[in-house]
Amino acid sequence: MEHHIAVIGAGPRGTYCLRRITLYLKKHPLKHPVNVHIIEKSGNFGGGGIHSVTQPDYLLLNTIGTQITAFGDDDDEARASEARKTLHGYLVDQGISIGPNDYPSRAQHGRYLADMMDWTQAHLPPGVFVHRHSAKVIDIESGPITDQQIVLDNGTSIPADEIILLTGHGKNRVVPDSGPAAWTSFSKNQQKKGDRTSYVHLVYPIDAKTRHVEPGDFVYVIGMGLTAVDVVKTFTMGRGGKFENGGYIPSGKEPFVILASRLGLPYSARAHNQKTDQYKGKILTPETVLKLKAQKGKVDFEKDLMPLIILEMGYVYYTTLMGTQMGDQFLNCASDEERRRLIAENVAAEERFSWEDLENPFRKIQSQTPPGHPWFSSMEEYTRYVIEYLRRDIKEAEKGNLTSPLKAAVDSVLRDLRDTLRLVVDRGGLTASSHRYLDKVFNRVNNRVAVGPPVSSTRELLILAEMGFVSFSGPTPKLSMNEGTGEFFIESDKVAGPVRSVQHVLNGRIHGVDNKNDSSPLIQNLFRREMIRTFVNKDETGVYQLGGLDVTDDFNLIGSNDRPQPHVCALGIPVEGKFWFNAADARPDVNSNSIAQLSRWVEKAVSRLKTKESAKP
Ligand SMILES: Cc1cc2nc3c(=O)[nH]c(=O)nc-3n(C[C@H](O)[C@H](O)[C@H](O)COP(=O)(O)OP(=O)(O)OC[C@H]3O[C@@H](n4cnc5c(N)ncnc54)[C@H](O)[C@@H]3O)c2cc1C
Repeated sequence: MEHHIAVIGAGPRGTYCLRRITLYLKKHPLKHPVNVHIIEKSGNFGGGGIHSVTQPDYLLLNTIGTQITAFGDDDDEARASEARKTLHGYLVDQGISIGPNDYPSRAQHGRYLADMMDWTQAHLPPGVFVHRHSAKVIDIESGPITDQQIVLDNGTSIPADEIILLTGHGKNRVVPDSGPAAWTSFSKNQQKKGDRTSYVHLVYPIDAKTRHVEPGDFVYVIGMGLTAVDVVKTFTMGRGGKFENGGYIPSGKEPFVILASRLGLPYSARAHNQKTDQYKGKILTPETVLKLKAQKGKVDFEKDLMPLIILEMGYVYYTTLMGTQMGDQFLNCASDEERRRLIAENVAAEERFSWEDLENPFRKIQSQTPPGHPWFSSMEEYTRYVIEYLRRDIKEAEKGNLTSPLKAAVDSVLRDLRDTLRLVVDRGGLTASSHRYLDKVFNRVNNRVAVGPPVSSTRELLILAEMGFVSFSGPTPKLSMNEGTGEFFIESDKVAGPVRSVQHVLNGRIHGVDNKNDSSPLIQNLFRREMIRTFVNKDETGVYQLGGLDVTDDFNLIGSNDRPQPHVCALGIPVEGKFWFNAADARPDVNSNSIAQLSRWVEKAVSRLKTKESAKP
């Protein structure tokens, strides 16, 4: 008898997972040999597709090197060396000059992960064997030797007693009758007529996907977040331009880029890190949220949690702005009314913390403009506004996450207290209607203000905006097609002035989790076999359909017949919805959620193998 465990996907989670399996088996050995199959379609074992080692070094992580690890906090053996404990330690050990608060490149992260996977494989306990398969998994079917077998795109299959899908970020197909479908068919028709009009649905790897964009072309990038920043870097540094002495030396190969988003403002920069420890909540504590959960069953994110989030942010903000005495007074106010009075008496209006302004920085302009009128009288006026917004943001980010009141509030609450929110949000803990609020309102603000690029990237964006290589769409932009000119054109009713035309449209966003429309043959085959379904949050407040897969509390996939798969599980991005905020790498010394979840899965999977051993000694 031999056991077979299959890990599908060898990106960051696959790397953590392999170590968690081998570490657990070291402490809790099985009687029979265990084969661990790790399968990766990119062939890049460790970083996978996203943290590929071949991507250019100007594509950065948005996490500092000391806050990235591949190992759990309990893994004394792996953490014995600084070169393994964090990405920063690894890079220093390699002789790379990098500070603890610097942002490494994604390729460096990929090299770290690849080496950590090699190290894991070189330290296997007796009776454990690792097999790497450089192939794409296309199906899971019942097997002759084991319960399942994994079907690969090279025509072979692998036996598997236990399977975990760690397949990460998906690629969604173009849905019929959608904007992308119209843009695809428009550009194809124009190309037939000899135009260079194009629409790119998934922009990674950016260099290869944007080679057709010629110098001086106009490109519309949907998104102003991390992917849009990658696109801008590729069109500038990737084409030979250089940022030097606070300016930019063009290569002459740059196109002109218009960055677009519903809000019309770029993501906020990550503040310079000044912390050594994560912030611990005063108001939004595990005890408070667990009490809420116990009282209510399902918690309303907007009504129950938002007030706590805003209060906690206010506390951090005013403590940073005015000192602990003011923070304590703010905290100890008996009512919201008293708190408002305290702020009104002590803080100038323009220095007050406002969640509403974070949510909508145009709030004041909007309230001063008659309905139906543009907020800006020209594109130049709007551009000046965005440039000023970027300057202010850079100034705050440079102060640091303990000195800037705003950045401290954002970093401490929206980032450091994610695990506290997970206690109530995960496993369908929210009411259906407030789950929609989390997805459609809170997550958008959270991503924009707390998950932005390093400040160096925002500085580059500012320089390029000042030089005219990058401009912005205006709020609520509209993208249309002109059969006559063969070009796309864009306008914003919030900005007066002529429409602008572009030859190319790039979808500059990571695809949202939408398993039903995922182009992966594996996912589609599992739907066909009724082995999976998407998660629906349903209660008296409504029905909220999510794009992530439904799993049990122990991550077993649930089929369309309501039955959990006893031996097939999934974790990470594919289960976004049932579990919250999975697109993040493991951090040391905070009992990282992604590693904790993998440990739980390993424990359950190995105990099932143990049961099998007792049944067939
Ligand atoms: C561009 C980008 C930058 C990011 N930067 C950061 C950052 O700086 N900091 C941070 O904390 N988070 C970042 N993230 C969030 C991201 O979720 C994590 O960095 C990480 O990549 C997630 O790891 P994962 O292993 O769960 O998924 P992935 O990295 O997506 O890995 C999944 C792997 O599974 C493989 N795979 C999928 N399907 C199959 C199949 N059928 N057969 C075989 N193999 C398959 C894929 O090739 C892939 O390598 C970033 C995300 C993106 C997209």
